Parts: sequence; structure tokens; C-alpha cells
Amino acid sequence: MPFDFDLLVIGAGSGGVRAARMAAAKGAKVAIIEEKYFGGTCVNVGCIPKKLLAYAAHFSDDFDDASGFGWQLGETRHDWKTLINNKNAEISRLNQIYINLLEKAGVEIMSGRAVFADANTVLVGEKSISAERILLAVGSEPVIPDIEGKEHAITSDQVFYLDERPEQIVIVGGGYIAVEFSSIFNGLGSKVNLVYRGDKLLKGFDRDMVAFTLEEMEKKGVRIHLHSTICCIEPQQAGYSCVLQDGSHLRADKVLYATGRRPVTDRLKLANTNVHLNADGTIRVDENFQTDEPSIFALGDVIGTPELTPVALEQAMVLVDHLYGEGKREMSYEAIPTTVFCQPNLAVVGLTEEEVREKGIKAEVFISEFRPLKHTLSGSSERMKMKMLVDRVSQRLLGVHIAGADAGEILQGFAVLVKAGVTKQQVDATLGIHPTAAEELVTLRQASYLID
Ligand code: FAD
Repeated sequence: MPFDFDLLVIGAGSGGVRAARMAAAKGAKVAIIEEKYFGGTCVNVGCIPKKLLAYAAHFSDDFDDASGFGWQLGETRHDWKTLINNKNAEISRLNQIYINLLEKAGVEIMSGRAVFADANTVLVGEKSISAERILLAVGSEPVIPDIEGKEHAITSDQVFYLDERPEQIVIVGGGYIAVEFSSIFNGLGSKVNLVYRGDKLLKGFDRDMVAFTLEEMEKKGVRIHLHSTICCIEPQQAGYSCVLQDGSHLRADKVLYATGRRPVTDRLKLANTNVHLNADGTIRVDENFQTDEPSIFALGDVIGTPELTPVALEQAMVLVDHLYGEGKREMSYEAIPTTVFCQPNLAVVGLTEEEVREKGIKAEVFISEFRPLKHTLSGSSERMKMKMLVDRVSQRLLGVHIAGADAGEILQGFAVLVKAGVTKQQVDATLGIHPTAAEELVTLRQASYLID
């Protein structure tokens, strides 16, 4: 063989690990290079630690809810260090599991930063490795905009490793990461100010559902500042003062910027190849994930598709099938389900009401807003909202949206229905599971309004 490997994967995150394992299972000789941590963003500074912190935050609501059910709790106190140490131990276990999975699949593992020497050769330190095909699964990293005092701000990468929980935190950003961390710190007892320069937090989500979710978050104590920009971060004797554009100040022990991420391409020496970037810095690929350099492929966050682990995993499966399998699997970006793990959760699959209107689809909108059974005794005023959009002509489900406890868990099954093109009549013919919140979705009888 003229090359050391059939496939060389750069980046052992969600997409890279899946592609390496699957390609090796198909009989390809595969190596993977990772510079930081096995499992990538999701396992180390993304989905998994974030969800663990979200679980931790939820206990404060559970403690509040308990007395209505007869529980008498003593004083509760949260120990941040215990949470972070336990989380770190779990992440180390997962890192090792990823290494074991790769080894078991027969993938050669290398540690270090990969840079291109040419279209088939990569350098890791002094070592030169060649491959017939190279896959870039290098992901993205957070960026802080250029403001005065930006060196005092932290990103989501650091927030998982703070020594102490900030008593007061300012969180900047309008996407799901900013919103989720607002709920996490609020639940753990911090005073949270969420600052966003625009007026549409969680862009791309159904506006009505977002408004409901944010209202619930505000009821729980998160302070939301829209149309607000931080001009500078000034260090104080203790903590920081964030100066807003209107001259007002917000005090903070930590300032977390979750304002955006950029693809990690600048350290790869792509100039030694014919790989080209899009205007936004993501790597340009065709529908088969091939870059402008025929031997080099790219997938995951670095190509600018929805930044979600299941998207990177599916892209890896499609690519491997294309390169080493039957070539039958196709990547679809339709009806990708997702959940914002704030409190309450906001889960969505399919079209928003805004998208239905933009597309000019005639639709029925079913809405149910109610107080979950649990809260009849808990005393909590938390409510739940569900919305289903149905095509009036075909009767197929266009979108399902849930805001409330465990919305992500409930929605996964409905994502199958939306993807499969199930009709509202088929949903109606399904019996509910009583008493659950989820049964509301199979008992939505009367459309709240029509879209023409
Ligand atoms: P990554 O997982 O980022 O992996 C890239 C890897 O490449 C990294 O390990 C990096 O060290 C390595 N690398 C980069 N350059 C080099 C080089 N030159 N040499 C060697 N190695 C290199 N998604 C969800 O689906 N659900 C969630 O709840 C969710 N929550 C998130 C929360 C946060 C705070 C963040 C930041 C992200 C979250 N995501 C979530 C997104 C998800 O983590 C990413 O979409 C996913 O990890 C992308 O996978 P990837 O393979 O493209 O890249």
C-alpha cells in the first residue's frame, strides 16, 4: 500500500470517533489523532457535563416541591466542588471508554496536534503519517467578541472547571448555551443576569414557545436583559462590573460569554492543501462531505451544519457508508429534533409556526397549556405548553413543540412520527398513557386556530 493508512481521522470528537470506528469495522486501516481530549466537545465541555449540571440544578425545584407531598426537609446546601469532582470523574471514565472503543475496533490512536504537509500527509510533531483519505472532524471552539476587559470573561470551556460557584453571574448570549447556563446557575442558587443584544433569544425556535419558556425561567428568578450590550468589563475589589451601553452596571463574580463558536481551522495549515473555506470560516464540502481537495473530507461542527452531536454522528455513518459501504445512506437535515435543557426544557421537532407561515402552508395549530398534575400538590406555579402544527391538506404532523419538565424525553418518540410522516388521525387513534403530561399530545381534539 502506498500510504500508511486508508483513513486518517483528525479529531476524536463525536463525528471523528464514530467515523473511525465504523470505517475500521468495514475493514479499512484507520488511525485517529486527537490533541486535547477523547470524546471531543460533547463529552468534555458540551452535552454531557452540561446535562449533569442541569440535573444538579433541578434539585432546588424538587426540594421546593417536596413539602406539598408531606416531606419536611432540613436546610439544603449545594457543594459545587463535589459536583465538579464527580462530574470530572465521570468524564475521565468516558474518555477511557472512547479510547477502549477505538482500540477494540482496531483503530490506531495518536495524541497530538495534526497539521497538513500535503493532501495525503499529516504531521504530528516530528512524525509524518500518510493516508489515502483524511477526515477533518476538528469541531468548533468558543469566541469572545472584542470588548474592553474581554480577558476577564470566561467561555463554556472554562465554566465546567470553576473552583467555586459564582454567587452572581452575568451570562451573555442569545443561543441555547447561554439560556441553559442561566437555568443551571439559577437552579444552583446564583443570581443570574442574562444579557442579549437582540430581542429574539433562541433564534430559530417557535417564538410563542420561546416566550412561554422565558416567562417560566423569569418566574424562577433569571433576569433577562434584551437589547443590551456590554461595553466593558471592569475588575472590582471582588468580582467585576459589567458596563452596559445605557451606562448601567451589572455586578458579577463571573462573566460568561456564550456568544458564538468558530470552526477550528486556523491551526491545520490548510494552505498546504486545496481545502477551501466558506465565507463564515467553515470548511466547504459537497453533499458527500468531500472538500475541494479530493482526498480530504470534513464533517461535524467544522462544516457549519447544525452543531449537534447526533448530526455529526449521522454524517459519519453516511460518509463511511459512502466510502467503504454500499453508498445507500443519505444525510437528511429535515426534522432534526433538539432540546434546550433550560428549566423548563424546550423541545422541538419539525417546523415552527413562523416557518409554516413563511412557506405558505395551510395548517391547523393545536395548543395545550396546563398545570402538570404534580404541581397541584407541589404548590409550584410552573406550567407546561405543547403545540402541534398539522398540514390541513395531508393531515401530516409538521412540527411538535413542548415546553415543560422532561420535554426532551417526551419529544423523542414524536420525532419518529414527524420523520415518518404520520397523520394527526394516526396520533388521535393512539391511546394515552394516563396520567402523564405526554398524553396531552394524543388528545388534542380542537385546533386553537388555523393558518391560511
Ligand atoms: P468535536 O466534538 O468538537 O471534536 C473535535 C475534536 O477535534 C476535539 O476533541 C479537538 O480537540 C480535536 N482537534 C481539533 N483540531 C485538532 C488538530 N489539529 N489535531 C488533533 N485534534 C484536533 N449537542 C447536542 O447534540 N446536544 C447538546 O445538549 C449539546 N450541548 C452542548 C453544550 C455545549 C456547552 C457545547 C459547547 C456544545 C454542545 N453540543 C450539544 C454540541 C456538540 O458538542 C457538538 O455539535 C459536537 O461535539 C460536534 O462534534 P464534532 O465531531 O464536529 O467536533
